[in-house]
Amino acid sequence: MNIHEYQAKQIFAKYNVPVPKGKVAFSVDEAVANAKELGGNIWVVKAQIHAGGRGLGGGVKLAKSIDEVKQFATEILGMTLVTHQTGPEGKLVQKIYIEEGADIADELYLGVVLDRAKEMPVIMASTEGGMEIEKVANETPEKIVKVAVDPSIGFQGFHGRKLAFGLGLPKEQIGKFIKFAAALYRVYMDNDASLIEINPLVKTSAGDFIAIDGKMGFDDSALGRHPDIEAMRDVSEEDPAEMEAGKYGLSYVKLDGNVGCMVNGAGLAMGTMDTINYVGGTPANFLDVGGAASAKTVAKGFEIILRDPNVKSIFVNIFGGIVRCDRIANGILEATKLVNVSVPVIVRLDGTNAPEAAEILKNANIGNVIAATDLGDGAKKAVAAAKGE
Ligand code: GDP
Ligand code: MN
Repeated sequence: MNIHEYQAKQIFAKYNVPVPKGKVAFSVDEAVANAKELGGNIWVVKAQIHAGGRGLGGGVKLAKSIDEVKQFATEILGMTLVTHQTGPEGKLVQKIYIEEGADIADELYLGVVLDRAKEMPVIMASTEGGMEIEKVANETPEKIVKVAVDPSIGFQGFHGRKLAFGLGLPKEQIGKFIKFAAALYRVYMDNDASLIEINPLVKTSAGDFIAIDGKMGFDDSALGRHPDIEAMRDVSEEDPAEMEAGKYGLSYVKLDGNVGCMVNGAGLAMGTMDTINYVGGTPANFLDVGGAASAKTVAKGFEIILRDPNVKSIFVNIFGGIVRCDRIANGILEATKLVNVSVPVIVRLDGTNAPEAAEILKNANIGNVIAATDLGDGAKKAVAAAKGE
């Protein structure tokens, strides 16, 4: 789960990670009231969407008067913001953050992310803040300093010094930076985050560090022990089909291809997607119907897959281990009564009671249901059907 910048900054503040003062607004009037309440004479008006690159897309504006706050709030609220992370369709801006303007001497980058190969959180810092960190990583990787922190030891002074020296900070700023990084590591660990990114981390002319931006992602499996974070969920930022699938115990991720996939087990689902690619097709989705697939979940699966207009065929690839294939075959028949399945459905059922399942499907004799003998055969037939062959 991801949260908005303003929410990440609320969490930062609790851990004494310095952030500018700011307040979220849902209307232009509220934005103006917030700016007056914050005081000062320079404000930043920032679109709150779950995507980065807002600045370049026109979603971050510096206002030098209350009139300008009003003008920028009017422009940004309700706009469809397109950034390199939103895709060409962009995202509707429904809330904005009004923040006191920061005095920026230098823009750095600081992030914490789980390194799965090292099995440890890694803190990354760079002098090249403000720009796309992916570009820095590709073109000048030596400009990113990394330290892995063994969670059983925790963040220590030497971790902080390695980062601070790597950034080439002057002596008098090292202590402040280490305190900042230590607090950020606490934020990451205490909240079961999977990612924190501060880009830019600003150094002021007085040599203080402030988080000007803040992105946080969380481990979904740990949300159960963080009701306060779960409460920050913004469903309007999430894919409605993926959310609905979750309610029925289905794991669904939409992709860009045209072969819909309905598979049991995440490993088999990945293998199925690979096989579709291997035989020259592209999967339209990842869908794991789980171990307890029933007629109802299969029908829901068809419904969700078919909502994607790109889908030209569906490959049902189920291995009957705990779940019996004859039940799945009946589920498919049931589902075709509940949902209008308008594209060819290629079915490969193997494992427990596979012969019975084949018999059921054969006897039902539904026009657009095509039997496959194995994974490779099924993938080929599904890809051919998607191409209209
Ligand atoms: P992003 O584009 O989605 O990553 O949004 P950011 O929060 O990083 O804002 C984009 C850019 O706006 C930053 O890199 C800064 O250069 C600039 N910016 C943000 N806040 C301030 C501020 O308080 N003062 C000034 N001068 N610039 C700011
Ligand atoms: Mn940023």
